[in-house]
Amino acid sequence: VSTEQPAVVIIGSGVAGSALAAALATAGVPVLVLERTEQFVDHVRGEYMHPWGVAEAVQLGLHDDLMAAGGNVISRFVGYDEVYSPAEAERGALPLADLLPGVPGALGIGHPVACQVLFDAAVRAGARSLRGVEQVKVTPGESPVVSYVHGGSEHQARPRLVVAADGRESSTRRQLGVELEKTDPRIFLAGMLVDGVRDWPIADSVIGTTGNTILYVFPQSEDKARLYIGYSIDDKTRLAGADKARSFLEAFRVDTIPDCGRFADANPAGPCAAYPMFDSWSDSVVADGVVFAGDAAGFSDPTIGEGLSIALRDARMIRDVLLGSEDWSKEAFTPYVEERAERMRRLRFAAQIFTDAHIPLGPDGVSDRRRRSDMMTQDPDLFMLVAAMACGPEVAPESCFADETREKLLTPV
Ligand SMILES: Cc1cc2nc3c(=O)[nH]c(=O)nc-3n(C[C@H](O)[C@H](O)[C@H](O)COP(=O)(O)OP(=O)(O)OC[C@H]3O[C@@H](n4cnc5c(N)ncnc54)[C@H](O)[C@@H]3O)c2cc1C
Repeated sequence: VSTEQPAVVIIGSGVAGSALAAALATAGVPVLVLERTEQFVDHVRGEYMHPWGVAEAVQLGLHDDLMAAGGNVISRFVGYDEVYSPAEAERGALPLADLLPGVPGALGIGHPVACQVLFDAAVRAGARSLRGVEQVKVTPGESPVVSYVHGGSEHQARPRLVVAADGRESSTRRQLGVELEKTDPRIFLAGMLVDGVRDWPIADSVIGTTGNTILYVFPQSEDKARLYIGYSIDDKTRLAGADKARSFLEAFRVDTIPDCGRFADANPAGPCAAYPMFDSWSDSVVADGVVFAGDAAGFSDPTIGEGLSIALRDARMIRDVLLGSEDWSKEAFTPYVEERAERMRRLRFAAQIFTDAHIPLGPDGVSDRRRRSDMMTQDPDLFMLVAAMACGPEVAPESCFADETREKLLTPV
């Protein structure tokens, strides 16, 4: 068994793992990255990054890499709904350009592309990054040990710190016995990448609520977009069948979003997969010698598209602890643990409000939805929640995240 002693071992080379590896390696910290897959493929994950996530990418020195790989700047969010006209929706559009200093807007980029770009940035900066790694086992402690199989042989690393960034199904989390708390899902979100979209405003991200469906459009380039549809958790069989990609696309054959049929007529360019939407979190995102980051540490309900931004904030905060002092003890991560707990609590609240504002879908929800969407733009607390989703959960005052805010939204006047 070969043994090596990098300062940090990072398990998982998704957005969180690779971003951290690149940032640490750039600062001269010896890093070993262990990634299970041989290549990044489309698993229907996040491809829309809010402005606050872009701000984190800037701070990590990785924004230019994402842009050079074809990142699309998204400068406006429009929330269409059958309960009001497209013109009304466009009047209430949220401008995303320059909401935060130095941030041109939100970002649309393929998930496998983003992972590869960040992986390459880490390698370029000097991280030792291995792919096709199997059987990763972590023994926590003051001197943690990571064993793994690579190239058919067993290896061992004895770093000062292990960062578990191995995603929502994190096996490190299971090994350490860390349980996630979860909310009950109320919505399914199904996604598919499409190309061949014709003539459309690629700087607009769009949601359109109609009938029993919430449509999402996140543009990536002149003819490519990540589409999602949200629908009731009770509608389990909606995309069952062999022809689910076609059923998915047909959901866009409506007139809530102007010229929405162009999405129905686009070509599938990746798998179509549906997931129940819920938040998950844990009070134990650090153990002796181990820190969790990104989805592995608990994830936000993807209906509000915060996971990429969370992953980058985690990477930036962990980097700052490691570069800020020689103390890499569990206690040194207390500011990260506390900030993350509050960040996830606020985003959980925002996801709940977003879902409340949209359901019930279908004819039973129409009058409530009209009232609730008006409130989202007119009530200061609810409006600040929308701003918090785009600009970061810390921008809204604490009072926005109180039960009274939710009661206001849910109680008919
Ligand atoms: C349907 C859906 C839609 C979403 N939409 C959005 C959106 O629009 N915007 C947004 O911001 N977020 C969105 N998200 C969330 C976002 O995709 C995630 O939060 C983000 O990708 C998390 O990054 P990560 O690096 O923590 O995990 P991942 O991207 O999952 O990376 C984990 C990495 O670890 C590797 N790995 C796993 N196990 C091991 C192991 N045992 N050993 C070694 N390597 C391992 C994996 O191969 C992978 O490369 C969405 C999620 C879903 C499910």
